[in-house]
Amino acid sequence: MSEVVEQLAELTGYKDRDVMDVTLVMALRDLLNPLCVSIYRAIGSGEDQRWMSRAHMGQGETVPTADSLVGDISHLPPLAQYPARLACLQRRELRESASASEFTCHFPLISEHDGDGVLEVVTRTRITPAEQRTVSAILRVFHNFQGLLDYSERDSLTGLLNRKTFDASFLKLLRQEEVSPGANLAGDRRHDSLPSYWLGVIDIDHFKRVNDNFGHLIGDEVLLLLSRLMRTSFRYHDRLYRFGGEEFVALIRCDATENALLVFERLRQQCEAFAFPQVGQVTLSIGCTRIRALDTPAAAFDRADKAVYHAKHNGRNQVHGFEQLVEAGHLVEEQQKDSDVELF
Ligand code: GH3
Ligand code: MG
Ligand code: MG
Repeated sequence: MSEVVEQLAELTGYKDRDVMDVTLVMALRDLLNPLCVSIYRAIGSGEDQRWMSRAHMGQGETVPTADSLVGDISHLPPLAQYPARLACLQRRELRESASASEFTCHFPLISEHDGDGVLEVVTRTRITPAEQRTVSAILRVFHNFQGLLDYSERDSLTGLLNRKTFDASFLKLLRQEEVSPGANLAGDRRHDSLPSYWLGVIDIDHFKRVNDNFGHLIGDEVLLLLSRLMRTSFRYHDRLYRFGGEEFVALIRCDATENALLVFERLRQQCEAFAFPQVGQVTLSIGCTRIRALDTPAAAFDRADKAVYHAKHNGRNQVHGFEQLVEAGHLVEEQQKDSDVELF
């Protein structure tokens, strides 16, 4: 019993959602001593959903492993490749299966924002009903704790991350790159293909008119629908924030400038083509910038915001990169500082 309480204390001690799956897997490994324990989440959209391993730990391993968060997801297994996991996910209930030498238990993991998934526990002897109840109780605590984190870190209307969390995750991202620049890269060391981070500021055009013409409730619905479009347009590892009224920020990882601009251009086109109920067409002005070594959240935001300003003054409904605008002579980069050195 005290061991369970200790595991719960450990589990709820982190306020960092990035490590929660890892902490859960470590706690259950200590508690059940299984052959292996893993968390898989269903990522992607529509018909093309795939299993991403968020944390996996085999017997004797001291550190959990996980699938890389970056890059193409087409190498990940489709959901149908693991029917037992899929059955657990779809029915949202505990499922057991057995082979000649081992038992597998799947527990559903329901998460509104991080993607539904399953906890997979493989053991040599069957997990007892008492152990199953303990695991289920730990998962309920895990779920409730995630709900609390969401409450403090997410915007209540759209469910996107709120502004308060932006600075911390921006700085964490820079720290990670300092420790291991280009981590997760498989082999390719050419500079132009090194992954880099981009910050995009996304501002709805003439949103005040939407409110004035259709009322605040319809305005809110536009914000909600746009946040859904953003979720499907960006990848699992990209971070999306609602910064203020009708202003959003995306922190994305990309391997080349053209691709970053394309990602934002795709969102612009999707929004332009979407029929918002009653309102009809809504367009976006988007500015983006590449994040630099020793950047500050405010400096990066300011550059992207200047690109938005440029879009607003040149007809709206367009995407601009700050660096491209400087290169083309449309904007002047303020005095070079140490912080403007490129690291990745
Ligand atoms: P621009 O194209 O220059 O960006 O024009 P705009 O009208 O979008 O920008 P402006 O900054 O003038 O107005 C933003 C409007 O967003 C004003 C405010 O009424 C509305 N707004 C801010 N927060 C919310 C919200 O939570 N819900 C709704 N419905 N409206 C909001
Ligand atoms: Mg606006
Ligand atoms: Mg605005």
